[in-house]
Amino acid sequence: TRTTKQWQEADSKHFLHPFTDHQALAAKGARIVERAQGVYVWDTDGNKILDAMSGLWCVNVGYGQRELIDAATRQLETLPFYNAFFNTSTPPAIELAELLTEVAPEGFRHFFFSSSGSESNDTNVRMVRRYWDLIGQPQRQVIIGRNNGYHGSTMAGASLSGMSGMHAQGGLPIPNIVHVEQPHWYELGRDMTPEAFGLKAAQTLEAKILEIGADKVAAFIGEPVQGAGGVIVPPSTYWPEIQRICRKHGILLISDEVICGFGRTGHWFGCQTFGVQPDLITFAKGVTSGYVPLGGVMVGERVAKVLIEQGGDFNHGYTYSGHPVACAVAVANIRLIQRLKLVEHVRDDVGPYLASRFEELRDHPLVGDTQTCGLMGAVQMVKDKASGTPFDGDLAVGMICRAHCFANGLVMRAVGDRMIVAPPLVITRAEIDELVTKARKCLDLTLADVKA
Ligand code: PLP
Repeated sequence: TRTTKQWQEADSKHFLHPFTDHQALAAKGARIVERAQGVYVWDTDGNKILDAMSGLWCVNVGYGQRELIDAATRQLETLPFYNAFFNTSTPPAIELAELLTEVAPEGFRHFFFSSSGSESNDTNVRMVRRYWDLIGQPQRQVIIGRNNGYHGSTMAGASLSGMSGMHAQGGLPIPNIVHVEQPHWYELGRDMTPEAFGLKAAQTLEAKILEIGADKVAAFIGEPVQGAGGVIVPPSTYWPEIQRICRKHGILLISDEVICGFGRTGHWFGCQTFGVQPDLITFAKGVTSGYVPLGGVMVGERVAKVLIEQGGDFNHGYTYSGHPVACAVAVANIRLIQRLKLVEHVRDDVGPYLASRFEELRDHPLVGDTQTCGLMGAVQMVKDKASGTPFDGDLAVGMICRAHCFANGLVMRAVGDRMIVAPPLVITRAEIDELVTKARKCLDLTLADVKA
């Protein structure tokens, strides 16, 4: 085996990381994570770190779950790969599609598989345009996303995403993708009640539809809770109003549940937490708890019926659509979530507990606001607590806090000056106590740095 320094040197020589400034990384050296158990990971220096981000929002059942490991091993031995292209199928893919009908929201009985959230959203773009073609309205091409939404890094995924930094690279968005306001009350709506702001933010969708012409709009896509945008929990009025607007104009509603799916918000799917019935659901990450890559699209009756009965060939798919090892792990993962009653654990126990412990952090001089939804949480750091004035971005206060977290055995992600968490669903109250105690300490250390 190698020393940390040797790993770091080889890493910066050859491995191009996603979303990373490589010169800055080379100057510091990557933290090399080598093993994990439960809610903890260990680096090559032996540091034990509470992984409050579940890897990257995905390790819902926690690390080291024997059922998932055994399912993968068994499937690798029996049939490591076969495709679903030649009028062929495999037992794990069939079992997964069948099992998903048990946990999906009502009305979802058809499932298309991919290997990631990005590929799944590309599938959505092609599928909704195909749907409108088939029903004789091919002019319905426009898909509407939201500022600061995140839907992936492929050309369509990055275009649906509303991140200006992504659009600036590579000439995005691709044609016929536009964006509307995000329901970020603390940043955009503090002069109103959250409920009034939720309606106002949703109505930017209707204004956009009328501007474009409803007969040209194919779909709206949104994450129930924006994740990579900073854990932006919408006011309760927001999603029902979005649903009303989509129905009024006949527009398909896509719920991107890559983060919110599989228990994260205290229901199986985030759309259930917010009381909406989408037409399509994007999933990935938590479907296998990240143990192996798998994603897909849950296709509701409205679209499935047309695709199946009128569609003929849908010229779209991936080598790994229905990958048997990934599907076998997903089946084991979903059964484990059911057996451990993790959705109920989030909804009735650790979700409300995280909410109350995060609210306590509001007394901290750096903290302007906190928000949680199930096991997603955000701590908004501000320069002036009373007015909510943000820090000058050049200070990179979020990055300072993130570094303190790592050094103190905690992974929290920084999105601007919002510190965010999404711990494994198996987390206990005692582990949440550890998370919050460490978070408070790191806020103290960050405050000292900011004052210095
Ligand atoms: N959609 C959402 C809501 C996501 O959070 C992500 C990834 O974080 C994606 C899509 C893209 O998924 P992937 O990175 O698996 O391509």
